[in-house]
Amino acid sequence: MSHTKIPPAQADGILYLASTPIGNLDDMTFRAIKVIQETDILLAEDTRSAARLLKHFNISKKIHSYYAYNEDKRIPFVLQELLSGRIVTLISEAGTPLISDPGHKLVVAAIHRNIRVIPIPGASAVLAALVASGLPTSRFVFEGFLPRKKGRTKTLENLSKEPGTLIVYESPYRIEKTVEDIGKIFGNRYIVLARELTKKFEEFIRGYAFDISRQLTQRRLKGEIVILIAGTQYHSSEDINTGE
Ligand code: SAM
Repeated sequence: MSHTKIPPAQADGILYLASTPIGNLDDMTFRAIKVIQETDILLAEDTRSAARLLKHFNISKKIHSYYAYNEDKRIPFVLQELLSGRIVTLISEAGTPLISDPGHKLVVAAIHRNIRVIPIPGASAVLAALVASGLPTSRFVFEGFLPRKKGRTKTLENLSKEPGTLIVYESPYRIEKTVEDIGKIFGNRYIVLARELTKKFEEFIRGYAFDISRQLTQRRLKGEIVILIAGTQYHSSEDINTGE
């Protein structure tokens, strides 16, 4: 006999997780605009960028801050609003909330109270980078940001055994060091740097780790960057820079 409890009727409130653009405002979805317009409580990781976004789409709405350091304090208030039937929407500074951004604790707390959680899909740097990288898309591992110090080498060593494409977020200040570390631990693996996605200076830099490492000593990259690393099952015959 199953002991699975049947959950009680769902609470009335809804928690929406709305994706916003990662650079190009035309990537905002109609649905995200509608949901934000209709939401009772808008939570934003960065209130200034949210204000700019709302202004662009002619939405006037109070913005409540919700970021990594006030998450714990905010959750009881948000849950109370949800349990009394309010619609709450969480947005990140850019892209999809919870993807290397805050929100996971709130989603878990909402699920525990049987509150509906609805994603509004849209832009995210990880998938935009992957699909245009040329690296295999059938299997991939998203690692978010690598640890800066403790556990960094171990993490890279573990990742170096992965058969699928690896995807890492990185800041432009650390890109040179990270590509150098990838070369040290993975060897001369094929990598792709996806920079400034959806923006004016969007660029894909493709090649082998040692070569790209050398290039980065001569050229300082600016803007936002995703690093993609070929997995162990990647064959060099698939690489894009064959020179043909
Ligand atoms: N939630 C976001 C998403 O869905 O992609 C990611 C937020 S995370 C704090 C920021 C990191 O995402 C940046 O350091 C960069 O690695 C990556 N990123 C965000 N926007 C990007 C863009 N337009 N081009 C390249 N990378 C981007």
